[in-house]
Amino acid sequence: MLTLKKPHLAAAVAVVGLTLFSGLAQAQEKVLNIYSARHYQTDEALYQGFTEETGITINRIEGKEDALIERLKSEGMNSPADILITVDAGRLWRAEEAGLFQSIESEALAKRLPDNLRHPEGKWFGFSTRARLIFYNKENVDPAALKTYEDLADPAWQGQVCIRSSTNIYNLSLLGSIIENDGAEAAEAWAKGVVANMARDPQGGDTDQLRAVAAGECGVAVANSYYYFRLLRSDDAADREVAEKLGVVLPNQEGRGVHVNVSGAGVAAHAPHKENAIRFLEYLASDEAQSYFADGNNEFPAVKSVEANETVQSLGDFKVDPVNVATFGQNQAEAQMIFDRAGWK
Ligand code: FE
Repeated sequence: MLTLKKPHLAAAVAVVGLTLFSGLAQAQEKVLNIYSARHYQTDEALYQGFTEETGITINRIEGKEDALIERLKSEGMNSPADILITVDAGRLWRAEEAGLFQSIESEALAKRLPDNLRHPEGKWFGFSTRARLIFYNKENVDPAALKTYEDLADPAWQGQVCIRSSTNIYNLSLLGSIIENDGAEAAEAWAKGVVANMARDPQGGDTDQLRAVAAGECGVAVANSYYYFRLLRSDDAADREVAEKLGVVLPNQEGRGVHVNVSGAGVAAHAPHKENAIRFLEYLASDEAQSYFADGNNEFPAVKSVEANETVQSLGDFKVDPVNVATFGQNQAEAQMIFDRAGWK
């Protein structure tokens, strides 16, 4: 009897000890693991501010947007990731669809961030915005007939339009917003019209479209606002010259407003440090962090009371499409099919 009891007792003690230890370890572990598709100068200050405020150490894994999503998928339940930061609501939606986020509730986030810039069930939150704008060559293009995204499909612009490929997430989200606003049929007619107006087959990134306008290869182009601001603020005089040749159209000001998208983040589905992760998201919505986060990529802070940097502010006030950015992801599959049918490469 005694020989049997002893190991029992020893085992019981061991289990209790282990439970106590791991409970203690969790409470004391002041760590946060961030997977981020962002890497800007101001990020250092951003992360430092959080660590100073909370004593929580941040480990960062940086990578390309789609590679980070693949990594999280393959790590599955064993992923050390607490937070995923990435760009474009269409991509946040892909991560959400893959089950990479969990819903969280935070009064602070609900209060600070506009409804339309966050997931309806708290799976991800937009912390800065970027506008998808139309640019034209000031020397030889009259923008009078270029007031809306829809105008880009007008035969008046035949052979003039430069825009990147249809697999690009920014274009998928833009078309997703056109589907939402104009309906799928009109969206397809639009895509066909733009393809018919292209100056060349889609190639390169947004900056390449801006350079092509400045070089006269196309009259008009579509690009995200921060690429333009980056050229304007460049240390390289040649970049600034490119930007100075460009005029900006703020589309759909008489109607729904400019299509804006977000940089955002959410708590990973299997976050080992969930409380720290929520605290980090709440920190991102603070005035200080909002400035760093938006400024790093010349974006607009999601929190209205926080100002964008001077270059970004030079665009002036404009009307923004109030649709929830989550709809871009919901329309993404349809958008891709429409692009394919329209022959948009
Ligand atoms: Fe970009």
